Amino acid sequence: MIFETIANTGHEEVVFCHNKDAGLKAIIAIHNTVLGPSLGGLRMWPYKSEQEAINDVLRLSRGMTYKNAVAGLNLGGGKAVIIGDPAKDKSEALFRAFGRFVNSLNGRYITAEDVGIDVNDMEWVFRETSFVTGVHQVHGGSGDPSPFTAFGTLQGLMASLNACFGNEDVGKYSYAVQGAGHVGMEFIKLLREHDAKVYVTDINKQLVQRAVDDYGCTAVGLDEIYDTDAEVYSPCALGGTITMETLGRLKCKVICGAANNQLASNEIGDEVSRRGLFYAPDYAVNAGGVMNISLEIDGYNRERAMRMMRTIYHNVSRIFEIAKRDGIPTYLAADRLAEERISTIGKLRLPHLSAVAPSFQGRRGN
Ligand code: NAD
Repeated sequence: MIFETIANTGHEEVVFCHNKDAGLKAIIAIHNTVLGPSLGGLRMWPYKSEQEAINDVLRLSRGMTYKNAVAGLNLGGGKAVIIGDPAKDKSEALFRAFGRFVNSLNGRYITAEDVGIDVNDMEWVFRETSFVTGVHQVHGGSGDPSPFTAFGTLQGLMASLNACFGNEDVGKYSYAVQGAGHVGMEFIKLLREHDAKVYVTDINKQLVQRAVDDYGCTAVGLDEIYDTDAEVYSPCALGGTITMETLGRLKCKVICGAANNQLASNEIGDEVSRRGLFYAPDYAVNAGGVMNISLEIDGYNRERAMRMMRTIYHNVSRIFEIAKRDGIPTYLAADRLAEERISTIGKLRLPHLSAVAPSFQGRRGN
C-alpha cells in the first residue's frame, strides 16, 4: 500500500525514523532530487494517526519540489515531520536523534524550520548534522525570512499588475490585505511606501491598529475584507480563503499574496481563471523564505538574497505567459513551469547523490 502511494506521488525515498529513548517518531520524504539535494522544513504536529503524518509529509515534500523548481533553485523537494506535540514533547534528545537521521542521508535531504519548530530546536539538530538551514544568525544563518518574503511578494505583485493592467505602478491600485502578521505587515509597509490605498484586517486587533497608526491603512472587519472595492486581494494569513463563496464577493482583478495554499481547491483555480482574474500562484510568489534559507548552503549573503527575490518577478511573469500560451489557469501553469524546468535541467545532469559544498558539510552547532 505504501509503495503504491509512493509510486503514485513519484517519491524517490521515504525514511521512517524511530528512536525509543528519545521518543522520536519521524518521517523524512524525499520527493525529487533531479535539480539538487532536497530542501524542505521539519514540521512537528500531534497527528491523530500515522497515516495522517504520512499523507502530510508526502503532500508537503512534493509541494517543495515544485516550489524550489519554480524558484529557480538548484534544489529538489523534501520535507520531514515529527509526530508529537510541540508544546509538550520537545527535548534535546528528540532533535538530536532526528539530526542523526538527517545526517545519515548524507545531504540528500536538507532540513529547515516549519510549523511547530523554532530556531532553538534547530540548534539541537545542528549538533548532529550540517544539513540544516534556518539556524541562528550566530552560526551564519539568515534570520527571520518574513521581510524577504514580503519583498518577494511585491515582485510577484508587480509582475501580476503588469500582466493584468499593462503597468506595474503599485501606487495606482488599492489592496485588501488579509493578515498583518510577520509577512503581511512588511508587505503593507512596502505598499504604503508606494502610497497605495490599503485595506487591512487581522484577528489580532493590535496588529490592525498598528497598520492604521503606523502606515495609514483603512481597517475593515474580518469578513468585510472580501467586499472592499480593492483591485488586488492579498491573502497573507491562512490558506483556503479563495472559495466559491468568497470568489462571488471579490471585486478585485488581481489575487496576489504570501499565504500558502490560497485556493480551496483546483476547481476554484479553474473558476478564478474563467472569471478572468489574474491569480499569481502562491508558491511562486512566496518563495522568498526558501530562497533566503537556500543561500545558507554556500554561505549567507544578504545582497545575494535581495537579488534573488527580484527573480520572483520573472518567475510570475513566465507563469502568466505559459497560462496564456497554453490556455490554462495560472495554478496549472506554475506546475508546468516546474515540470519543464525539472525535465530540461534534469537532462543536463545526473540525479543528485550528495555533493553540497565541503564548507557546508563541515559545519556543526557545537
Ligand atoms: P503570522 O502568523 O505572523 O501572520 C499571520 C497573521 O494572520 C496573524 O497576524 C494572524 O492573526 C492573522 N490571521 C489568522 N487568521 C486570520 C483570519 N481568518 N483573518 C485575518 N487574519 C488572520 O504568519 P506569517 O509568517 O506572516 O505568514 C503568513 C502566511 O504566509 C502564511 O500562510 C505562511 O504560511 C505564508 N508564508 C510565510 C513565509 C514567511 O517567510 N514567514 C514564507 C512563505 C509563506
